[in-house]
Amino acid sequence: MRNRKFPIAICLLLFLNSCSGKKSDIIMTVNGPVSVSGMGVSLIHEHILVDFIGADSINENRWDRSEVVERALPYLIQIKKLGCRTLVECTPSFLGKDPVLLKTLSDSSGLNILTNTGYYGAVNNKFMPKYAFSETADELSSRWTNEWVNGIDGTGIRPGFIKIGVGSESLSDLHKKLVVAAARTHLKTGLTIASHTGPAIPAFEEIEILRSEGVAPEAFIWVHAQAEKDLNNHVKAARMGAWIGLDGVDDNNMSDYIRMIKNLRDNNLLNKILLSHDAGWYHPGEKNGGDYRGYTALFEKLIPALVTENFSEKEINQLVVVNPSEAFKIGVHKIN
Ligand SMILES: [Zn+2]
Repeated sequence: MRNRKFPIAICLLLFLNSCSGKKSDIIMTVNGPVSVSGMGVSLIHEHILVDFIGADSINENRWDRSEVVERALPYLIQIKKLGCRTLVECTPSFLGKDPVLLKTLSDSSGLNILTNTGYYGAVNNKFMPKYAFSETADELSSRWTNEWVNGIDGTGIRPGFIKIGVGSESLSDLHKKLVVAAARTHLKTGLTIASHTGPAIPAFEEIEILRSEGVAPEAFIWVHAQAEKDLNNHVKAARMGAWIGLDGVDDNNMSDYIRMIKNLRDNNLLNKILLSHDAGWYHPGEKNGGDYRGYTALFEKLIPALVTENFSEKEINQLVVVNPSEAFKIGVHKIN
């Protein structure tokens, strides 16, 4: 079904890039590589389907793909009409990640969609497979790297980033292991690491672990950074090079987002912000998939609010086009 030579081409590309110190100019979508220039306006943290049943019970028979497509597609067409070109789907393994579903939706909507590799340790490890408790960081990393090289679960579909999740307190040993595994996977694949984190304490611990593994903070997205109330910590992490994910935009929190964005702009760090809604999604087990929150507030509320606050077209383009392409383009970020 897929060109088997492709992984070799990608490996060669990454090898050449690491020799020259240059980054590649591609992102990896569920339909294969796309030039970063084709990424366009992007939502960097959304969901199509999430199943909270837990790693011990989840399986793909819990949802009917055609029913999910019918439910989700209108929301994707809606954002395509608003100018969106790429949606980064952040549902991890064992929480309903379904690359085949995402490919179907990408084909029928015309949007680029990215999926991920990695494990989610937040919520007391309910979504971690049993073997992840005992395997080493290297063993986990080789599982994730295998998804990059050979595709996910025999689908031939490759991840476009690494998604992990940690608790909101100081990191447990298990969660430290996930970060080490993510670091080692990054060095082998050039995939960016997005970690569900929240407050600053675990975020800075993650950055420290990445550094000790030789990975620069430029490879790290601090997911749900809006949960951190001391905005100086956004500035501090962004100055280190990390991406600040302000990814919970909804119809009712414009003033909070304007304040957080302005704070980073005042510190010349507009180039480190990633915006999204963390919205969606089809809930297996609920009638017709339950409540589905659309992905429009950024287009219909936040961008107009930024215009009112005198953000220039160039600055808005930086936030919704340039930053996502810089954050998700494939390339290894080593500490100099
Ligand atoms: Zn999410």
